[in-house]
Amino acid sequence: MNEKTSKLALPSEPRTFGFFVDGEHIEAGNRVVLERASPAHDVCVTRIPCCTREDLDKAVEAARTAFDNRRWSGLSGGERASVLLKAAAGIRERIDEIAYFETLENGKPISQARGEVEGGIGMFEYAAGVARALHGDSFNNLGDRMFGLVTREPIGVVGLITPWNFPFYILCERVPFILAAGCTIVAKPSEETSASGLILAEILKEAGLPAGVYNVVPGTGNEIGQAITEHAGIDMVSFTGSTAVGRSVVHAAAGNFKKLGLELGGKNPQIVFADADLKDAADGVAFGVAFNGGQCCVSGSVLVVERSVADEFEALLADKLSKIVVGDPLDPATQVGAITTEAQNTKILNYIDAGKKEGAKLVCGGSALDFGAGRFVAPTLFSEVTKKMSIAREEIFGPVLGVLPFDGMEEAVRIANDTEYGLAASIWTKNIDKATQVSRRVQAGRVWVNCTITGGPELPIGGFKQSGWGRETSIYGIEEYTQIKSVHIELGKRNHWIG
Ligand code: NAD
Repeated sequence: MNEKTSKLALPSEPRTFGFFVDGEHIEAGNRVVLERASPAHDVCVTRIPCCTREDLDKAVEAARTAFDNRRWSGLSGGERASVLLKAAAGIRERIDEIAYFETLENGKPISQARGEVEGGIGMFEYAAGVARALHGDSFNNLGDRMFGLVTREPIGVVGLITPWNFPFYILCERVPFILAAGCTIVAKPSEETSASGLILAEILKEAGLPAGVYNVVPGTGNEIGQAITEHAGIDMVSFTGSTAVGRSVVHAAAGNFKKLGLELGGKNPQIVFADADLKDAADGVAFGVAFNGGQCCVSGSVLVVERSVADEFEALLADKLSKIVVGDPLDPATQVGAITTEAQNTKILNYIDAGKKEGAKLVCGGSALDFGAGRFVAPTLFSEVTKKMSIAREEIFGPVLGVLPFDGMEEAVRIANDTEYGLAASIWTKNIDKATQVSRRVQAGRVWVNCTITGGPELPIGGFKQSGWGRETSIYGIEEYTQIKSVHIELGKRNHWIG
């Protein structure tokens, strides 16, 4: 059977995972076990232990010991790079396995899960390079008697809390950079999608990562997530998730003033000018809202389109959205799979209802799709939307798009920036002046021109406004996991202050 073209089968039984502390795989024992059902098939696919606070304390202790005794932070960048490159090779060997569990737990199409894992390999390879490139600065202009150095040091033990929408890729946007900086990690993946983070622990161990450097304690957000953010033994938390939980993380982290990296929600405008290639733009906008079932922090979830082409563009877009292949994510032909959680499914359908009740006009989609099992939503387009409507203001995290027409660049920028979020924006135009001017003025950490939801390890990611603090990936991302020390070195004999 060719795995790339044939539909995959469900596993004959769920895979049972343990958790991972101090280089050891630990079985669930008498802990609560979370049974994860595939959101596309309603069949149990993984069994994941729910760690306790004592487990977390042990993981933090292991990460602290590994950091303090310098078994990782004391290595050269080159030695750390070698482990990261071996890990990249280890991931490559297990692409099919990781992608399969991503699809089973998350509901995303298998072809896209494979793409996600391949993207993760690129993150490890790039981070191996930055492990060697990371450097500080020197000040040779302080006079003959003084020399100044600025050094970067790893920040210490990092707590890593990640969501369910891109379980493996989001880990890979962070883990290799944190490791490249010389830090140690206590990771808590989303309770819905922990498998790939646990498989990564096996790969890192085989790649030669010393014990205690990468620990995984699966569990719920309220229990283990909250405890990580409060833990006095953790120096920094990298949190990726909703803005609401991000706000509570800020409060919880105050106890020991731990540093925070926050990657939060978004309401990301797709700005389409009349001079765009409208067919290309329609395809891109459809991809931007429907990819991963709209469950992307950077989904293009508001369409801001120039009024003179709004009707024509809406028709092109409705045609594209209605042709998207929604269905079984184990089928390689599927483009949009299942909605990952029951709560998210209800939330999306409630927003669709709200759009209808608030007076928006349904152009296409607008309902759940029934495939006999699982949860699916048809890609949905609303026109006659106003900025007051909840579908235009709030993060839906589903394949639902509302159209807001504009007249002129000023109005386009005003509508695009009229949100508490600032994660991403896309601009569709063939006019280089407009593209440049709007990309300068739009308040977003990521801007795409004539494309959307693309990127790699080279460029940083992160949000303006209530979409977060700090940056991940790229050289800027690794710097977040360091702190800066300034060193003054006096040369020669001291001029005495006393007598
Ligand atoms: P979520 O905020 O519910 O959960 C994210 C993680 O936080 C999970 O591991 C969860 O267990 C944990 N958590 C929950 N409560 C916690 C608490 N009180 N303290 C500490 N941790 C807690 O988000 P989700 O539903 O898993 O993911 C969807 C959200 O994530 C969306 O808002 C999306 O925009 C955002 N997101 C942002 C980015 C980004 O890069 N900006 C990327 C992906 C997802």
